[in-house]
Amino acid sequence: MVDLQTQYAHIKQDIDAGIQEVIDSAAFIKGAKVTSFAEHLEAYTGAKHVIPVGNGTDALQIALMALGLKPGDEVITPTFTFIATAEVVALLGLTPVVVDVEWETMNMDVESVRRAITPRTKAIVPVHLFGQCANMEAIMALAREHNLFVVEDACQAIGAQYTFANGETRQAGTMGHIGCTSFFPSKNLGCYGDGGAIFTNDDALADKMRAIANHGCRVRYHHDEVGVNSRLDSIQAAVLDAKLPHLNEYIATRQRAATYYDEAFAGNDKLLIPGREPHSTHVFHQYTLRVLGADRDKLREQLAERGIPSMVYYPVPLHQQKAYRDARYKDGDFPVAERLASCVLSLPMHTELDEEQLAFITSNVLELINI
Ligand SMILES: *Cc1c(COP(=O)(O)O)cnc(C)c1O
Repeated sequence: MVDLQTQYAHIKQDIDAGIQEVIDSAAFIKGAKVTSFAEHLEAYTGAKHVIPVGNGTDALQIALMALGLKPGDEVITPTFTFIATAEVVALLGLTPVVVDVEWETMNMDVESVRRAITPRTKAIVPVHLFGQCANMEAIMALAREHNLFVVEDACQAIGAQYTFANGETRQAGTMGHIGCTSFFPSKNLGCYGDGGAIFTNDDALADKMRAIANHGCRVRYHHDEVGVNSRLDSIQAAVLDAKLPHLNEYIATRQRAATYYDEAFAGNDKLLIPGREPHSTHVFHQYTLRVLGADRDKLREQLAERGIPSMVYYPVPLHQQKAYRDARYKDGDFPVAERLASCVLSLPMHTELDEEQLAFITSNVLELINI
């Protein structure tokens, strides 16, 4: 599904030099590399503040902690996403309220969000799933209308660009009050371990989130609030600082692979290519087909027999997960998410796919689907 070894081989000198520099300086925690990477990422994303943290899940948790919410306050998330999005809501004693997604973009459905808003709703967490932004124009308008916070889960979408009706273009993670991203190794900007970051343009929120990520402390051993220990370590920052200058080229390579897939599968009525959000670019963290009128799981097995990996992101929506079962929801309540869970199939997608590999993958998928 990914090929991190080949990617490393192309940038080995820069990565190795960056890591060696950290070891020589022995500044493993809060070193200069962390600050320089955060500054470079501020310049790249246009976010006023980038706060590096331990991972994407922590980023989401710290973001929600900073909003001053109380137990019972409701936070709206899509039901078709990675578990972390709702996990942090539940962990903080807040109430996750899940909504359905759109069939084409697989992102949060805005009309479902509107219907889910109650007097206790405090925040919306849109997920920019698989690498394209949710309908942020409508989500931000809804949030303004109801005075809600928006925390973007941009863990899969770093570098995606969204253009608003007024012509303004913003990056994933920099449109809401807070944005969160992950540097998990297989993410579009991945480090060599765990890592994450929080984006905000709000000075007060930035100050609060920096403190929360550092045991709630601004002045050493003086704790203003209950915090956590969540840091991006200097070695990971060195890896990321070496990879960030390549991010746009990595995105372009993923987009070229996606175009190859799109063209190969266009017109096949059993394979629906990913629908596009008209106002967002797509950075293709995943290339996800919808398999119709054929056995998705059997196709996966047959591809595996031919040496082609594929994955189901995600086989079970949140409202059907054991840990998140809730009397408010029953099977059938979120028909689009449930249908997607039964038919999605993600193909290999990374920066090192060449034409020969793409031809091998697509010809085998087409041969197997047409049997
Ligand atoms: C990867 C991911 C996360 C969590 O990031 P980690 O760094 O693994 O904690 C959260 N949300 C989404 C949508 C993700 O894809």
